[in-house]
Amino acid sequence: MSRAYNFSPGPAMLPEPVLRQAQATMLEFGDTGASILEISHRGADFLAVARQAEADLRTLLSIPDDYAVIFTSGGATTVQALLPLNFAAPGQAADYVVSGHWGKTALKQAAPCADARTAASSEDGGFRDVPPREQWRLSPDAAYVHVTANETIHGVEWRDIPEVGNAPLIADFSSSIASEPLDVTKFGAIYAGAQKNLGPVGITVLIVRRDLLEREGQPRAPIFDYRAQANAESMLNTPPSWNWYVLGLTVKWMLDEGGVAEFARRNARKAALLYAAIDGSGGYYRNEVATAARSRMNVPFFLHDPALDAAFLSEAKQAGLVALKGHRVLGGMRASLYNAMPEAGVQALVDFMREFQKTHG
Ligand code: PMP
Repeated sequence: MSRAYNFSPGPAMLPEPVLRQAQATMLEFGDTGASILEISHRGADFLAVARQAEADLRTLLSIPDDYAVIFTSGGATTVQALLPLNFAAPGQAADYVVSGHWGKTALKQAAPCADARTAASSEDGGFRDVPPREQWRLSPDAAYVHVTANETIHGVEWRDIPEVGNAPLIADFSSSIASEPLDVTKFGAIYAGAQKNLGPVGITVLIVRRDLLEREGQPRAPIFDYRAQANAESMLNTPPSWNWYVLGLTVKWMLDEGGVAEFARRNARKAALLYAAIDGSGGYYRNEVATAARSRMNVPFFLHDPALDAAFLSEAKQAGLVALKGHRVLGGMRASLYNAMPEAGVQALVDFMREFQKTHG
């Protein structure tokens, strides 16, 4: 089988030019006489790669100088666990606005080290919307307010950055970073596992306003200290150098394609195409998320008869459309439409869906 259109939620489809470049440099990197997998992270060759990746990410996302960019392993989940250790005092409140599975995870990871409070949740409604701002109950003394910009499983996305008052807003952008222009200055911190829009799994990006790095936080091992990581250029220990390199290639590819403004246009067209196919199917397919909160990146949908799910998945695979099975929490289907998914892939999916409805209707 040749490369299919891959709708995986993550690790997700990567741009083919990035994979080809990574393949070419796997054996021999520059004039080092070695693979990039085999060279020191502290040598000039890798330092140049690491610094270029950061510089390009700063350009791509318009990250101002008063924000540090930290690259770590451990995934977004580890960031969730380290947020209270770095940014909350012992016992201090931290407010969580929960719009899906990953918001709940963030709260659970913070709970042992903070007075993590659910300031609002849309769970009662099955996570089909973001909690309306007027229903939030924020703590006056919160260390920060946490939101999940895009819920990868439930397909719920904030379309406006909510106003939270004085506490810094910290947002999990794992599944929507770089999908459209973003005003970083509205946030205290933004974090994302790379394995959706930024490249390969194994590296995580934290973009944090430098004044937050001055907070004392709580007793923690030096390796968990973001201020120390920032000061050490994210090299307190051996960083995931290959992953960092491929992230750099992916970021460069996004810049070459026209940057986040261009991806915002493409992503809006792709999402509109798929939602129109679902909504126009006369109930054969359905998406249950409130229209204004529908994710552009992850589109969960259900067939009118779950007995057809297996046939849908196997025929889709034969048509070159893979990884459409929904998360076990929701069931059904899910199509993830990250930056590397071309519009032709989404067109192929909606054509397949119409054909499937005709033959199995
Ligand atoms: N947050 C969101 C929004 C996610 O989609 C994911 C993973 N799918 C995570 C957090 C957890 O990320 P990781 O597996 O990198 O820890």
